Amino acid sequence: MNFISTRNKNTFVTLSEALQNGLACDGGLYVPEAFPTFDWQSLTTDLPYAKFAVKLLEPFFADDPLKDKLDQICKESFNFDLPCLRLDQYNAMLELFHGPTLSFKDFGARFLSNCLIHIETDKSFTIMVATSGDTGSAVASAFYQKPKIKVIVLFPKGKISLRQQQQITCWQDNVCAVSVKGTFDDCQTLVKAAFADSWWQQNTYLNTSNSINIGRLLPQTTYYAYVAWQYYLEYGKKANFIVPSGNIGNVCACFWAKKMGLPINEIIISQNENNVIGQFLAHGILPNKHSIQTFANAMDVGKPSNFERLYALYNSVEDFRKNVKAFKATDQDIVNMIKAIESKYHMLICPHTATAFFARAYLPKNQDFIMVATAHPAKFEQVLEPIINKEVPAPKALQELLNRKPHNEEIMPKLEDLTHLYQMYFK
Ligand SMILES: *Cc1c(COP(=O)(O)O)cnc(C)c1O
Repeated sequence: MNFISTRNKNTFVTLSEALQNGLACDGGLYVPEAFPTFDWQSLTTDLPYAKFAVKLLEPFFADDPLKDKLDQICKESFNFDLPCLRLDQYNAMLELFHGPTLSFKDFGARFLSNCLIHIETDKSFTIMVATSGDTGSAVASAFYQKPKIKVIVLFPKGKISLRQQQQITCWQDNVCAVSVKGTFDDCQTLVKAAFADSWWQQNTYLNTSNSINIGRLLPQTTYYAYVAWQYYLEYGKKANFIVPSGNIGNVCACFWAKKMGLPINEIIISQNENNVIGQFLAHGILPNKHSIQTFANAMDVGKPSNFERLYALYNSVEDFRKNVKAFKATDQDIVNMIKAIESKYHMLICPHTATAFFARAYLPKNQDFIMVATAHPAKFEQVLEPIINKEVPAPKALQELLNRKPHNEEIMPKLEDLTHLYQMYFK
């Protein structure tokens, strides 16, 4: 299987190349040249998730040297729970937060890290990643102390939760945590600027593990596919998902799973006040706005990178409108929903997950929906505690990271500051 750029169907690269390049050289994002149809109907019904993932991803790895390692990569990346809780007759919740840093980002970050480790090369890489909160910790945890890999995590100063920040800054060694005086979009712009800069091109092999890297998106198709398959086995019908979205990577993976023929019916996007998709659906063009800060900070994205990938599935505004639905939740909606869910189901949800529950209220009551829970509520105790008037304890895995000594550097959102910092930190 080859991979092409969203901006040029004539640039072909192999999977290993796409993983190592991150971004296509024309600035577009890599997508598979075609989506294989997955024959889920002939699977044995007791197939465990990691094995299922191997079967789903095999066609993408065909004729790539990594294909012999796919089994091991899936086994080592997807070694935590994937519970789908039934809440009542018409509502279920898919918990994607049982990885080491408690958000769905662990699936993609661990998979990408395991792929890069297995690519045979003597190059030494620098992974540069911009984070709106959860990517940074997942990437730092996945790449910490991996040989020949330097990691730079850029996060917007003061705009992520304290526990998220601690999960990024507690590593050190080959992980350089950088607080940027700006927004997430500024961080993302810095990454793109470094890619285009000759000093960086000459001095290291720059890579990114933002969801612009195809190595993040492919593994994310596996949990939607697996859960939809399980759902079909149990109920004999297609699953409907509601996915909290910011940079549009996670929900794009859900659309890809559907495209591969998995039993998925509706896919609904829920957003916070940075409702880029809703605005696109209304006006047919992307808004040109900075992100605004909300309680669902990992979705504070004004220019979602993966929009290009989602749009590439349809290629006309009309077609896009027929297939994509989006709902916007304000901070007040998020607060109300967290309270409502606490009293209705006696459970805590994170502010991002709350946007999915908010969207649910606008959809047909007697249609069954799976709300996607993207992070563990304990990562957002600063938002949740004043709402529920209770302490939100950290689970053990998080507590261990909270006990480590944090360290970070600080820069203005300027490429020369970043370059200087890199030279000092990794000298
Ligand atoms: C990253 C993230 C999102 C948004 O996912 P995208 O792939 O950027 O759309 C939603 N919720 C949480 C908790 C996240 O960490």
